[in-house]
Amino acid sequence: MIELVGLRKEFTTKAGVVTALDGIDLAVPDAAIHGIVGPSGAGKSTLIRCLTLLERPTAGEVKIDGEDLAALPQRQLRTQRHRIGMVFQHVNLFDSRTAEANVAYPLRVCGAPKRQAGARAHELLELVGLADRGRSYPAQLSGGQRQRVGIARALAAEPSVLLCDEPSSALDWATTRQILELIQRVNRTLGLTVLVITHEMAVVRQVCDSVSLLAEGRIVQSGPIGEMVTDYGSPLARELIPLAARPVGAAGAQLEVSFSSADFSVRDVLRLLTDLGPDTAIETGTLETLAGHRVGRFQIETAAAAVPRVIGQLEAAGLHVIAADQPKTQDDAVSRLPGPPPGPAVPRAAAGAVGGAGRPGGAPNPDGEGVAS
Ligand code: ADP
Ligand code: MG
Repeated sequence: MIELVGLRKEFTTKAGVVTALDGIDLAVPDAAIHGIVGPSGAGKSTLIRCLTLLERPTAGEVKIDGEDLAALPQRQLRTQRHRIGMVFQHVNLFDSRTAEANVAYPLRVCGAPKRQAGARAHELLELVGLADRGRSYPAQLSGGQRQRVGIARALAAEPSVLLCDEPSSALDWATTRQILELIQRVNRTLGLTVLVITHEMAVVRQVCDSVSLLAEGRIVQSGPIGEMVTDYGSPLARELIPLAARPVGAAGAQLEVSFSSADFSVRDVLRLLTDLGPDTAIETGTLETLAGHRVGRFQIETAAAAVPRVIGQLEAAGLHVIAADQPKTQDDAVSRLPGPPPGPAVPRAAAGAVGGAGRPGGAPNPDGEGVAS
């Protein structure tokens, strides 16, 4: 279980104080895979550095399995860090050591006898699908294989949490898929709690149970994938279910219609959209199933004068409709956040708590509140 409570990080620079993390509250339950996405400068790297205590937070708690690492003195911190395994975008393996020796290295540093460390390394290489490559040197391995060695090494000290910082950004998409499958397998077989920091929504779509959107040092939206995709018009819903490009030169007003096939028949929605009148046309659209929800998103173009009528007709039918080109402000995103977590099981402080969507035996899904201001 990872819990962040009121996490704050300020940097003092010549130009003044930079607030990189502005009160982060987040709870990731045991054995869940949680994604953190956000634009460049949002605070993702700072968050990872604070989680591993490479960077001391200015305020707030960083709890791993209930223990606040931020409150520990340096010496104790060193022994507690083994609870956290790290996987980076660029694996820093020792070129002069074999794959097996690289994986065994953290164990050797902790004083494990050579034979025991070697046996454990062999087991881990087997887990990541490299049982027969233990004697290879990094230069003899592909990028994907080196990343596998990095994952095996991260698991050597038996962490309860795996932090992945852009684990696949340096890989091609086919290799990325394999690495993500491996992270998922490790999560399932070892019951590790995984936090994946990424700028790629495709990564979130493939492996994450829940996701948080970070912007300007705050969590602006957070929750299980299934809840995010049905929070129509929200930033994460739009990012998780992207629309294909619409025709160039479309000049009319753009409206975006969203629905779930649990509430509407696709046939009825399409009929309604095509019967809106001669000055209205479907520009682009998608029907996609994610986290068990089949969600439809359509963008339609209509003459400016017809907008009130068209919106009225769509809303009367119960569909969610927004002006597609309207600017998405942070306030907008915040006002759409789901309510506070139900019941006493989750402390109020753990706003932004998320459940493992669709995971058997996972915790119930308290809604993410997300924003601490
Ligand atoms: P991301 O990884 O999402 O791109 P970062 O965590 O790197 O974002 O940065 C968040 C903000 O904090 C940025 O405005 C960045 O300039 C600032 N920042 C990060 N590290 C430092 C530092 N060591 N000193 C001063 N400002 C920093
Ligand atoms: Mg970064």
